Amino acid sequence: MESYVKVVKVEKVGPLDTLRGLWVTLSNFFRTIFLRNRVTIQYPEEERDYSERFRGVHILTKHEDGTPKCTACFLCATICPADCIHIEAGEHPNNRVEKIPTRFDIDMLRCVFCGYCVDACPEEAIIMSKEYDLATDTREESIFTMEMLLNRADKLGFDNGYRPHFGPLGGGGTRGKMEEAGITGTTRKK
Ligand code: SF4
Ligand code: SF4
Repeated sequence: MESYVKVVKVEKVGPLDTLRGLWVTLSNFFRTIFLRNRVTIQYPEEERDYSERFRGVHILTKHEDGTPKCTACFLCATICPADCIHIEAGEHPNNRVEKIPTRFDIDMLRCVFCGYCVDACPEEAIIMSKEYDLATDTREESIFTMEMLLNRADKLGFDNGYRPHFGPLGGGGTRGKMEEAGITGTTRKK
């Protein structure tokens, strides 16, 4: 009968290999302690500086008068793969603007931060910030309302994140273009 036992040759490990392993461990230990060459950070006291394309909590951008730029076209809600955007549309007081959202919620527990909603928006009305610490105590708190999304950047001071029409992906734009375009509510406060 054919044997299915596979013989594996085990290399002998001598004291020199043990010393080499110890050297790697100790050199990294001392580099971390004395040279502060760490890959970890002391969160939350320290925070990383993330890329301009970071996909954090959304921001609804505003006109200068504070009204949302969103026209309740539902493109973002339609493309969202997690089905986590809930919009209700109403009449805009200015009859030159067709619609305005009366409700705009994002369920952050369902959101996968793919950025499709930002890509789909024709008005630059929704962008992403670099906000990532999203712990909540209850399920209800994870649903971010229109009021929270409109004023999020002002309140917490997070920098802009993914905004393809203004970032490197969208044709060489810079952060200043947000201000040039009159988009408020996205300025970082430190
Ligand atoms: S980032 Fe993706 S999952 Fe989250 S709301 Fe936008 S489209 Fe939906
Ligand atoms: S955020 Fe943009 S895509 Fe979504 S409903 Fe408003 S205008 Fe349309």
